[in-house]
Amino acid sequence: MTEFSPRVFSGVQPTGNLHLGNYLGAIARFVALQESHDCIYCVVDMHAITVWQDPEELGKNTREVTAAFIAAGIDPTKHIVFNQSQVGEHAELAWVFNCVARMGWLHRMTQFKEKAGKDRENASVGLFVYPSLMAADILLYFATHVPVGEDQKQHLELCRDIAQKFNNDFAESIAAHGFGDAFFPLTEPLIQGPATRVMSLRDGTKKMSKSDASDYSRINLTDDADTIAQKIRKAKTDPEPLPSEVAGLKQRPEADNLVGIFAGLAEISREEVLRQFGGAQFSTFKPALAELAVARLSPIATEMRRLTADPGHIDRVLADGAARARTIARKTMAGVREVVGMISSR
Ligand code: ATP
Ligand code: MG
Repeated sequence: MTEFSPRVFSGVQPTGNLHLGNYLGAIARFVALQESHDCIYCVVDMHAITVWQDPEELGKNTREVTAAFIAAGIDPTKHIVFNQSQVGEHAELAWVFNCVARMGWLHRMTQFKEKAGKDRENASVGLFVYPSLMAADILLYFATHVPVGEDQKQHLELCRDIAQKFNNDFAESIAAHGFGDAFFPLTEPLIQGPATRVMSLRDGTKKMSKSDASDYSRINLTDDADTIAQKIRKAKTDPEPLPSEVAGLKQRPEADNLVGIFAGLAEISREEVLRQFGGAQFSTFKPALAELAVARLSPIATEMRRLTADPGHIDRVLADGAARARTIARKTMAGVREVVGMISSR
């Protein structure tokens, strides 16, 4: 079997309202992986436009996600940070994958069903083929590991299916062109930590999301200390005190969510949180959680404000990252063209 050296890839959409779920489920994991892996972190603006984005906001949000990456501790000089649309090969490989993936596979994707809502006929074609583009993002760099929140698990499975089918369909050509017995790796998702699915603060059965109409449903990375404290104070809970065992959180989605958030922010397990707070009322737990959230998030918000005040600097970071990403992407696409049989003078 062809050996692929370990490489991490992941992306965040510049769709506004970056929130605590994005931080705990994705960005904080990105930061940790820098120690052990070569990492490529992408602001996926081409994914964002699968639903309508105001052009001015798209640019602003792209810089804001970049600022959040850097403020959280991602080093764009040691790793690669860029925005997707600057590397045209993402779209090019996505087209090939649109021809590899099957309609039936995409029809099963729950994110499409959720985002398209009832009026499916009116959803963009891009929203439907979103997972092909995501597979292209990952496989363009032969990424072996992708840190994501729980909601992206199904798309990662589809990415493996696409890689596997490409490797099978073109097996002879792959071998004949000297690429061994697999052109693409079967990428592993990394869905880790106590907060892989942070839920809405208003409804413990709904994912915390950028697009929720209620700002009280989420903690934004740009919220100030008072707003964070107020949102946690108002978060929906039940009247029972916290249990001392994790099993006691079953059937209590809101309590489970707040304990998970505490664990994620404190980088401890849910068990440890309950060892500390088992038996406590929310009137005790919520202020402790607010204090922890402010301590952890305020420095990031301050640094984000400093960085976004200098858009020129952010644009230079993105340009530098894109140039380095392009070098890898071009080589991959040249190989793909050879394997597929496309005549190329590039
Ligand atoms: P959108 O509503 O525009 O899809 P989003 O909040 O889902 O926004 P994305 O940019 O799609 O954000 O996702 C970026 C990363 O954040 C992904 O790895 C995703 O799995 C993760 N993520 C998103 N929401 C949560 C959440 N509530 N809990 C944990 N991780 C999350
Ligand atoms: Mg999403």
